[in-house]
Amino acid sequence: MSLLEVNDLHKAYGAFRAVQGVSFSLEKGEMLALIGPNGAGKSTTFNMVGGQTTANAGSVLLNGKPVLGMKGRDIWKRGVGRTFQIAATFASLTVAENVQMTLLSYHQRIFSFVKAADTQYRPEALALLEQVGMAEQADRPCSELAYGDVKRVELAMALANDPVLLLMDEPTAGMAPQERNELMALTRQLAQQRQMGVLFTEHSMDVVFNYADRILVLAAGWLIAEGTPEQIRNDPKVKEIYLGSGLGLETLKEGVPS
Ligand code: ADP
Ligand code: MG
Repeated sequence: MSLLEVNDLHKAYGAFRAVQGVSFSLEKGEMLALIGPNGAGKSTTFNMVGGQTTANAGSVLLNGKPVLGMKGRDIWKRGVGRTFQIAATFASLTVAENVQMTLLSYHQRIFSFVKAADTQYRPEALALLEQVGMAEQADRPCSELAYGDVKRVELAMALANDPVLLLMDEPTAGMAPQERNELMALTRQLAQQRQMGVLFTEHSMDVVFNYADRILVLAAGWLIAEGTPEQIRNDPKVKEIYLGSGLGLETLKEGVPS
């Protein structure tokens, strides 16, 4: 049994078919990349798995148990984490407080945050920050951080519910190449240590080929290819799709514009 089994997932917006029968599985500790041209249905697929979007048909099993149709929060409670951009309103909070917020939310004690944010779950927050290399900056406001460091805090927040599966939709958007590589190297290390599956989208093909164990290619809502980085690099259908979309073959090396 795989950690995640997605079967024949469909989503239409009116007459427009955004996702058309997507099936795949993901193993513990595996880094699985979902790539494809803009509008291919990557985010829609993520959102159906994470419970942010309803599906029209299909099934999603997490450790063999159906989760499709459940609310995002309930899927999160089952151990599906995802990275969200830190809301602007939290920028004034410190690094540690942001992680504590997530821990409080997980333990459903958000109401008590205002009063005792500075102490509740602080050791747990520091432990998570340690894992992403941000413990030393725990007491700085998030507004002061470099962009790459904010991303690491977001990663720590996504780990707060001890996820078995992490969903990362364009985690490195807006990052410089070196920062991207650092974030994905860290993610891969965490995936292996925690035996956590990771499903991610990424525009830099360098990053995809360096850090994915396996790659899924979506085009116009269809899953057109699946395989190792080496198999995908040499897949004629993939080359055709990238050429057909006007992106050019070099995008397989240089990254696809968003
Ligand atoms: P990707 O993440 O691969 O760029 P998306 O999953 O965001 O693609 O979108 C797939 C297609 O579905 C796009 O053509 C997009 O315009 C359309 N779409 C996404 N969300 C909605 C929505 N809420 N209403 C209508 N169309 C949508
Ligand atoms: Mg998207």
